[in-house]
Amino acid sequence: MSLDEYKRKRDFNKTPEPSGKLATSKSGSLFFCVQKHLASHLHYDFRLEHNGVLLSWAVPKGPSLDPKTKRLAMQTEDHPFDYGEFEGVIPEGYGAGIVMLWDRGTWTPQVDDVDAALRKGDLKFTLDGYKLKGSWVLVRTSGRFPGARGGTSSGGASRSWLLIKHRDDWAGELDITEFAPKSVKSEGDFEDILAADTPAVWITNKPARPAVGGDTGAMLARIIEKATAIKSGRAAPKETAPRHEEKPRRHEGTKKKPRPTKKPQRKKS
Ligand code: MN
Repeated sequence: MSLDEYKRKRDFNKTPEPSGKLATSKSGSLFFCVQKHLASHLHYDFRLEHNGVLLSWAVPKGPSLDPKTKRLAMQTEDHPFDYGEFEGVIPEGYGAGIVMLWDRGTWTPQVDDVDAALRKGDLKFTLDGYKLKGSWVLVRTSGRFPGARGGTSSGGASRSWLLIKHRDDWAGELDITEFAPKSVKSEGDFEDILAADTPAVWITNKPARPAVGGDTGAMLARIIEKATAIKSGRAAPKETAPRHEEKPRRHEGTKKKPRPTKKPQRKKS
C-alpha cells in the first residue's frame, strides 16, 4: 500500500487536510470511518484501516442498512491514517468542498487474509461504529453496475464495488443517511462545520469553492448561506446596540400603513 496517489493529487501548502504518513490505531483494533463529503457531488467516503493506511471507497448514496439495497462503492486512492478523524473544509484542488466525519469506530475482517480478499474482490467484515454496526461485505463488480464509470486503473481490476449489509440484528429498512445526517465529531451539519472554520480558511475557500451546478450547487449555496447566518448570529451578541437599532431606518417619521388583517400570508418556502 502506498500513499503516492493521495500525495500526487494534493498540494499540502494549500489544503488543511492531513499530509500522509503511515500510522496505525493504538488500541490494537482497526479503525474505520465514513466521511460525508460535499465536493462536486455529495458522497460518503468509506474507509477501513489496513497496513497503516485507510482503504477507501466513495459511496455516492451512502451505506444502506437494508440487505436488499446494494450501494455502489468506487474504490479510490488509499488515504493516510490521520485523515480518518478529519472534518473541515478543503479549500481548493482535488476534493474541494466540506468534509463531515459521519461515522467512526472499529472494524474486524471476517476473513483471515485481507489482501487476498481484496484481490479476490470479496471482503467480509463487521463494523462497530455509532451508526453502522454488524456484518457487511464489499464485493467487486465487473464495473457494469449502473452508474459506475468502469475505471480499470488499479492493475486491471475494476474500481467498482458494491457495499452490502448482511442480514443481522443491525440490518433494517431505516434510511440511516436520512435518520442520522450529522457529524459524530462535532454533532453539526455541513453549515456548522463551515461556520466553525477559522476565518482564514473561510476567506481562502470563498473564491475557490467548487464550481458546481444543479442540485449540488444549490445545496452548497444553501449551506454557505446558513453558515454565514450562523457566523453573523454568533457575532451579534458582541455588539452593544440592541438588535432593532442595527437595521437602517430609511423612512424616519413616516408611519407604516396598517396592514389589512384578514388572512396571515402563507409563507412559501
Ligand atoms: Mn471524497
